[in-house]
Amino acid sequence: MSTGDKAYSVPLYTTSNGCPVRNPNAMIKMGKFGPALLQDHHLIDLLAHFDRERIPERVAHAKGSGAHGYFEVTDDVSDLVYADFLNGIGKRTPLFTRFSTVGGEKGTADSERDPRGFAIKLYTQEGVIDWVNINSPIFFIRNGVQFPFLVHTQKSRDPQTNLKDVNVYWDFLCNNPESVHNVMFVFSDRGTPATYRNMHGYSAHTYKWINKDGEFHYVQIHLKTDQGIKNLSNDQSHALKADNPDHAGQDLHESIDNGDFPSWTCYVQTMTSEQAEKAKFSVFDLTKIWPHSEYPLRRFGKLVLNRNPLNYFAEVEQAAFSPANTVPGIEPSADPVLQARLFSYNDTHRHRLGPNFNQIPINCPLQAHSPFQRDGQGCVNGNYGSEPNYPSSYHPLNYRLDASNNEAHEKWVGEATSFQWAATSNDYDQALALWEVFKKTGQKDAFLYNISDNLKSARTDVQDRVFKLFGKVSSEIEEAVRKATLKVSPRK
Ligand code: NDP
Repeated sequence: MSTGDKAYSVPLYTTSNGCPVRNPNAMIKMGKFGPALLQDHHLIDLLAHFDRERIPERVAHAKGSGAHGYFEVTDDVSDLVYADFLNGIGKRTPLFTRFSTVGGEKGTADSERDPRGFAIKLYTQEGVIDWVNINSPIFFIRNGVQFPFLVHTQKSRDPQTNLKDVNVYWDFLCNNPESVHNVMFVFSDRGTPATYRNMHGYSAHTYKWINKDGEFHYVQIHLKTDQGIKNLSNDQSHALKADNPDHAGQDLHESIDNGDFPSWTCYVQTMTSEQAEKAKFSVFDLTKIWPHSEYPLRRFGKLVLNRNPLNYFAEVEQAAFSPANTVPGIEPSADPVLQARLFSYNDTHRHRLGPNFNQIPINCPLQAHSPFQRDGQGCVNGNYGSEPNYPSSYHPLNYRLDASNNEAHEKWVGEATSFQWAATSNDYDQALALWEVFKKTGQKDAFLYNISDNLKSARTDVQDRVFKLFGKVSSEIEEAVRKATLKVSPRK
């Protein structure tokens, strides 16, 4: 509201403890030009808070933009899931979404070639559930323990020089060839979406949906953009890094400001446990998609973004998403990368925002009552007053008893063993299928240009290893990547 607005009442400026300040530009000094005095509380209060303005940036997904909106159920899926917010056509659930790049630091360009995060926090009547989607249906790794190695090599800087190193980037990918399917996605033009509004979102992980009879299905969620897929070319993405590094955040903000609300149609793919046992791939393998022809998409909802945040730090920077946040009827699968994320995401928030991060308004559930979590830094919810801080016989609580108590679950048997899910020759069929999609849809040349433009900066021994990586998928791709790379990076 501007000061020209009659309804605006000019607030009284005070220190953080509420003491009115005469002149915010003045300091208490010994004489006009002498040293400053420690008793100048306005100065000390201001500087001390300024010194603490930054919280740690996210190790991954540091650069992001967010918006509020809603999810609406459009089709009945009650045969699949009893989660309250997914039952009842027309039912709406408020949500907050944060889009991001993965590898970029907080100030880097929105147009970087990188996966995009598409995290959604749904404030349901039964708690907050977060859908921590990305814009690809797959990911580079399937061993959860490798998450830090992936991020160190794809985003971090050399420990000595603090420079990014394309050789390290490719070294990790060549050592873990199951990554090649996602490498192909990222080096197609879908690796540089034109805006956040013009890309799909995928759960990529498998989750479990449980119905009212206690039966479960494995599911994958797809959010298809209603704006249509639009991508930047490699050259456009490079140019935008200099011209407007915040272009995607700006586009999101302006489109919502203009009343042009972006939306996505939500679909689910399902598999019974019997189907999963017969599938050619493991449903817990994050490097694999579920082919549409065998596991068709079933529509169940719509997601609309219609309100911009009022304050970036409060709402976007402090938004704390985690796949561990779920509601009755929806559970994680045994996907090893998902299992690692279940711990790592909330652990990051405890580090960045403190143990009471769920009390911050953007993270706060519609209702929560967890009096056994007490005290700690930043507790602002009254700390449950005089309630007991253990399950007390004298002050009982209600516990939810329903279908979730008699669900059918997987039965796991085995030895505790150290296991790396290494690549085998059976791991490359889907990467080859994507190559066929590129050829059929005229995306092959862009893929070859994009990858050669990146590889031209790598050492020749690294280039040779990357050619061999693609050779695992097919000799046709290996030859095509070699030819395109040597054209822009001729050998002496
Ligand atoms: P289909 O042959 O039924 O459809 C091809 C899929 O590829 C569509 O979902 C299409 O998305 C998507 N696609 C088109 N261009 C690209 C690109 N540059 N990068 C990534 N995806 C693209 O798919 P299948 O299920 O038989 O799978 C064939 C291959 O397609 C897979 O191996 C996988 O690599 C890829 N794919 C499959 C998905 C799945 O969930 N099954 C999802 C996304 C990709 P759109 O409809 O928006 O054009």
